[in-house]
Amino acid sequence: MLHLGESIQEFLLREGMSRRDFMKFCTIMAGALALPKNAVSDIARALESPQRLPIVWLELQDCAGCSEAFLRSTSPTAAELVLDVLSVDYHETIMAASGFQAEKSKDDAIAAGGYILVVEGSISLADDGGYCTIAGKSSKAILEDAAANAVAIIAVGNCATFGGIPAANPNPTQAAGVWDIIKNKPIINLPGCPVNPVNLTATVVHYLTFNQLPDMDSFNRPLFGFGRRIHDNCERRGHFDAGEFVKEWGDEGHRAGWCLYQMGCKGPITFHNCPSVRYNEGTSWPIAAGHPCIGCSEPGFWNWEVYKPISLNTFTPPTTFPTVETPDREISPAGIAISGTAVGAIVGAAGAFAYTALTNRSNIQPEVATEEPEEPAEH
Ligand code: SF4
Repeated sequence: MLHLGESIQEFLLREGMSRRDFMKFCTIMAGALALPKNAVSDIARALESPQRLPIVWLELQDCAGCSEAFLRSTSPTAAELVLDVLSVDYHETIMAASGFQAEKSKDDAIAAGGYILVVEGSISLADDGGYCTIAGKSSKAILEDAAANAVAIIAVGNCATFGGIPAANPNPTQAAGVWDIIKNKPIINLPGCPVNPVNLTATVVHYLTFNQLPDMDSFNRPLFGFGRRIHDNCERRGHFDAGEFVKEWGDEGHRAGWCLYQMGCKGPITFHNCPSVRYNEGTSWPIAAGHPCIGCSEPGFWNWEVYKPISLNTFTPPTTFPTVETPDREISPAGIAISGTAVGAIVGAAGAFAYTALTNRSNIQPEVATEEPEEPAEH
């Protein structure tokens, strides 16, 4: 644990982390926060000053997957920074105390104030909150008590942000997100199923460095993590552009890593930094593992049909792209060349040739359409 008057950096050095590793961590955090290079020194300075940010972590109606994702962190940075260095004063899942002792820890932390409240899980509103109670109190009452003295609230995972799986139709417990209940505190939403620990750590580091929450979108999601569509950064995007789609699980395209749009991928309508930060210390993410994105950082994703292709109404593909309105239509290089504009055809053909050459996929031939494809519809 952090000694009195000790800085986070001093703690990390004491635990065996080198100055070089510390600066690397600061650089990673600046990158995750999409901050310019000179912010690295601001972050380092903030973590070098003796300060402690108490955290109270509530776990309400959920599966504990967000806590699990966080604890799976193998690097000492994420787990130690938040759990040991920043001090989680109350987290009923991982704290040693239980029962009355645990409740007293929470009450003491709340009475002291000045903490960040992290909420995992949805809030059950039906039948006076009777579907989720702890120590005889409803999840709504627990949240309202803990929010009263918090300086800010971080809702982690889709359950705490938008209701999550518990809110799926017909939502029998009337599951709601934190921002549906609390209206008088700064709230930042970090959706995902589970939350990405990098985004949580980066949010806390941003607060420590600038004493405020990062810029957010209309869903209170930080722009650094949710400012761009998955589709825009996806490693399979080249295949989307070339009209190369997985048609069946285990087909040649699936084995070759082609686009999962026709298998129901929600990447084109999902805002998240999954493709860049990935999960499990950057090991992998769903699309890299061959599964379509299910849109878990969006409100209402739990009611979407996972394997049904989506219609995109706000995006008109150029004529050299395959249409996304009729996902079962086959687009061939020949068809593209016939239907595209002269410039578009040249660019498309050159791109497809270059991609084929780079990926050495010449043994996987796209199906050739016998008819000229229609022009994409206007949206
Ligand atoms: S549709 Fe999905 S798999 Fe295909 S490029 Fe977009 S995000 Fe990636």
